[in-house]
Amino acid sequence: MNGIQEQLKTLAESLGADIVGFCKLDKPVMGFSYAVSLGVKLADAVLKTIESAPSFVYFQHYRTANALLDTIAFRVAREIEKSGYLALPVAGSQSLGKNNPYRGVIPHKTVAVLSGLGFVGKSGLFLSTEFGSKVRLATVLTSMPLESELPVIENGCGDCRICQNACPAGAIYGEKPTIDGERNFDAEKCSKYMKEHFQDIGRGSVCGICIKVCPKNKL
Ligand code: SF4
Ligand code: SF4
Repeated sequence: MNGIQEQLKTLAESLGADIVGFCKLDKPVMGFSYAVSLGVKLADAVLKTIESAPSFVYFQHYRTANALLDTIAFRVAREIEKSGYLALPVAGSQSLGKNNPYRGVIPHKTVAVLSGLGFVGKSGLFLSTEFGSKVRLATVLTSMPLESELPVIENGCGDCRICQNACPAGAIYGEKPTIDGERNFDAEKCSKYMKEHFQDIGRGSVCGICIKVCPKNKL
């Protein structure tokens, strides 16, 4: 690992990151060709509170994980700036607004895959080598030249269709996943179902069932 990547990784881990990776993007995003992938692990005890429906405890935890990720990304971006490069932190939960609510500037899972930290499952979730789907991600886009330290991993779902069968919204198609998860998951369907059925829990925006049931999860 080169010196600056080691330094950024140490900083991110000291702030609470559980997984950290680096990559050159396939094509520039907002003028940036490189990215840092940051992940935090969700608590097993919290995921256990999800049965056949989302839970209040999970909703709060999800928001706290996003807040932590945003802080880590902010600090990592600042550190990169101190080295003379531009850096743009991308929030854990991102949206391009009312006309494009299910997309951000770049899918965090794409950056995590290019960084060799795991693969995108049939659920459309990122499955990290270390923890499976029990992670949330954020990204820092940058002009600082970075290189991946790990090879890209192929999808390892095999014949499994557990998440597809468990999804109450029928939002998981179970098809061969892409690096951004787009062709095998309908984000609008997921969100609509949550809003219709669980408006009382966290504005119906999170469920967690597809995370909880994945057999690739690790402690
Ligand atoms: S969050 Fe819930 S509704 Fe959405 S895809 Fe996962 S299991 Fe289905
Ligand atoms: S539940 Fe099975 S198919 Fe779905 S993401 Fe996990 S391993 Fe892949």
